[in-house]
Amino acid sequence: MHYFVYRGEELFVEEVSVKALAAEVGVPAYVYSARTLRRHLKVFEQALAGTDHLICFAAKALSNLSVLKLLAAMGSGFDIVSQGELMRCLRAGADARKIVFSGVGKSAEEIAAALKAGILMFNVESRPELYQIAAIARRLKTRAPISLRVNPDLDPGTHPHISTGHRTSKFGVPLKQLAEYYDEAQALKELEVVGLSTHIGSQITEPEPFREAGEKLAGAMRDLLAKGIELRYLDLGGGVGVPYQDESIELEDYASAILKPLRALKVKLIAEPGRVIAGNAGVLLTRVLYIKETDVKRFIVIDGAMNDLIRPALYDAYHAIWPVDKREHAELAVADVVGPVCESGDFFARDRLLPLPRPGDLLAVMGAGAYGFVMASNYNSRPRPPEVLVDGQRWHVVRERETFDDLIRGEKLVELGPEREP
Ligand SMILES: *Cc1c(COP(=O)(O)O)cnc(C)c1O
Repeated sequence: MHYFVYRGEELFVEEVSVKALAAEVGVPAYVYSARTLRRHLKVFEQALAGTDHLICFAAKALSNLSVLKLLAAMGSGFDIVSQGELMRCLRAGADARKIVFSGVGKSAEEIAAALKAGILMFNVESRPELYQIAAIARRLKTRAPISLRVNPDLDPGTHPHISTGHRTSKFGVPLKQLAEYYDEAQALKELEVVGLSTHIGSQITEPEPFREAGEKLAGAMRDLLAKGIELRYLDLGGGVGVPYQDESIELEDYASAILKPLRALKVKLIAEPGRVIAGNAGVLLTRVLYIKETDVKRFIVIDGAMNDLIRPALYDAYHAIWPVDKREHAELAVADVVGPVCESGDFFARDRLLPLPRPGDLLAVMGAGAYGFVMASNYNSRPRPPEVLVDGQRWHVVRERETFDDLIRGEKLVELGPEREP
């Protein structure tokens, strides 16, 4: 559910004409709908209503300051994976006591920064990380709240790059060794052992992997309790998929699958949704440059590229592509939609049936709110696009388009002189 809708032939974001917006800010540009973001957070809250819980939006999915601020103002906490995200969240007004820190490679500097900020907990992924956090807490004369991230060893049935809950993945502590890890953690007096966490993968569109994760977590909690280890938090991670095409999972089905096995436990649940909050709340707006016909193919060449949105190249991801102006008699045709970057991986769609646009027409690449701008790069020395946040009739440029000066910031022109014999 989102608020990118046609009025007659013309695409609107909430109350704002996309064409008028493009005329003002130019393209390519990311456009987000505040109403959609709010709605998704609210619906997720409702799915968990009745259980003691905290939602920690996964900042890596969409980390623009204004978006974080909007979610923080609605009471959301945050799941972070770097010091940069910690700083973004704090700058956006997040409550540090609602921040959880995930990731397999937290550096000493990042751990110290999070400890000083007073975050809710670290989701620890390995034994050396436990000792590292304890040592830093000792140096800072404080105690570190931690949970252990368990790898439940299951297959969430999603793309291998975004599947994290199988025992061969780099994430988490093996289920079998969990008890040993808790014993070790409890022996370190600088650690306050408060929780158990997991995250099994992303873009999961079936309830089954969540049910399986819930059962394994419930089993692990019961085993720990039997050993006298009582935990306050159970962090379920994120992973709920969004309908990019026609795949979909209802939030009620997700919630009932994962919650059912956990009902009897006396813990506060934490959920870390990213994609399901932000995915369909944003589009990448682009313009058609050329229609190129060869003897075997038709290419729609647009001014957006893989540096702006890398998901198709990286995960073979499907994104719907909508015309901003839906002319009545546009001919349907099969084409590849590609960008200007010098890589054959620079595509948005392959052999897609769509209304054939003309050069100069605007296209909206749908479902680009999550893992869109945050993964953008300057490859091919292309400035990153602006981000625009629409709210009702109003819109705000919440990140400016980069300039040539931005592209070369920090670079030096050094004088090396002519080549000399050694
Ligand atoms: C990426 C990530 C999330 C968010 O995943 P989504 O699929 O976007 O919901 C949550 N928790 C952790 C630990 C992550 O790495």
